[in-house]
Amino acid sequence: MTALTVDARDGCARSGRLRTAHGEVRTPAFMPVGTHATVKSLDPAEVRASGADILLCNAYHLALRPGVDLIERAGGLHVFMGWDGPILTDSGGFQLVSLRRVTSVDEEAATFVSPYDGSRLRVTPEEAVSLQARLDADIVMCLDQPVGWGSSAAAAVAATERTHRWAARCRALHPGDGRLLFGICQGGFDARTRSESAALIGGLGFDGIAVGGLSVGEPLDVMEAMTAASLAELPGDIVRYFMGLGTDSELLAMVDLGVDMFDCVAPTRLARSGSAMTRDGRLALRRAMYRDDLRPLVDDCPCPACTRFSRAYLRHLLAAGEILGHRLLTLHNLTHLTTLMAATREAITAGRFAAFRAEADARLLAGRASGDGPDDPPFPAPPQRVGARRIPATLDPSG
Ligand SMILES: [Zn+2]
Repeated sequence: MTALTVDARDGCARSGRLRTAHGEVRTPAFMPVGTHATVKSLDPAEVRASGADILLCNAYHLALRPGVDLIERAGGLHVFMGWDGPILTDSGGFQLVSLRRVTSVDEEAATFVSPYDGSRLRVTPEEAVSLQARLDADIVMCLDQPVGWGSSAAAAVAATERTHRWAARCRALHPGDGRLLFGICQGGFDARTRSESAALIGGLGFDGIAVGGLSVGEPLDVMEAMTAASLAELPGDIVRYFMGLGTDSELLAMVDLGVDMFDCVAPTRLARSGSAMTRDGRLALRRAMYRDDLRPLVDDCPCPACTRFSRAYLRHLLAAGEILGHRLLTLHNLTHLTTLMAATREAITAGRFAAFRAEADARLLAGRASGDGPDDPPFPAPPQRVGARRIPATLDPSG
């Protein structure tokens, strides 16, 4: 019996439940990102109230700071961070692309240089699994080697083949203690390599499979083609996770292909830049047009930002640099995505997912045409500071 129960199918889209040691995840699911064992600015109870079933934390970042020993002594990640629901930990494979200036890879292991203090962390595939088990992750991810958009075909094949060898080493160490172990298929941007990778990873007996190395700058049609090539080769009865995707239209496009789980820093990062995600596109609250707008942010949204405050007040908080503004927008954006996933599950169950997706896309297009869509004014998040060192935004992928 697999950990996933598929309750309804509509075309390739499916709605179901994933069982983990810390509870059930309703799929399709959006996972808020809590890289450093916190969803930025929110209490775990607020994250739960936003509708999230599961969080993503990053084993690589947590191993560097505060260290696995401390978290283990605290009783594991759930106790340490005060979140009693399921946790998926990312292994650090993505950082091999996003932090490539401070990482290196050889056949035995990946070596990360800490952006915090310059120390080195060398992690074999086996150690990646055991680190995540020591953190008490419910879902452990294999160590993989993605490639960036624009990499050569030869580089993509070499990284994919290494990912396969590493996957077999990780699989041999399946914790087998109620934790789920997910494989990651790669393949760069060639459909045949994608298919071959999915067939190989799909045959290793993982509890779930992630489609990795996409949403890294490629056009949407390429992303869709590569995802379709991957999914066609995966077993139908295990959960499929698309790593790093967070806009409404992209999520629905991938659900349409049969993806069950997503994560992205977009809702938290957009909130800090003053943008609210809505079904009509992004609403950039910094605009002067919202200064006297006493209407709710979104009429029928159940989140605290929408039920208790006005657009004018939220804009005022942002203009005054008040932390509450960022917190409320983060709560709203997470609620927006979990509500979208709940409506998606309902549409699949009712057998009307195609119409639901078409309506959602039409509404986004209309919102864009009205000029209130995703054209945010520039308002970059302030640079992160650690001690006296400045960490460029590209080195801080932490939600
Ligand atoms: Zn709201």
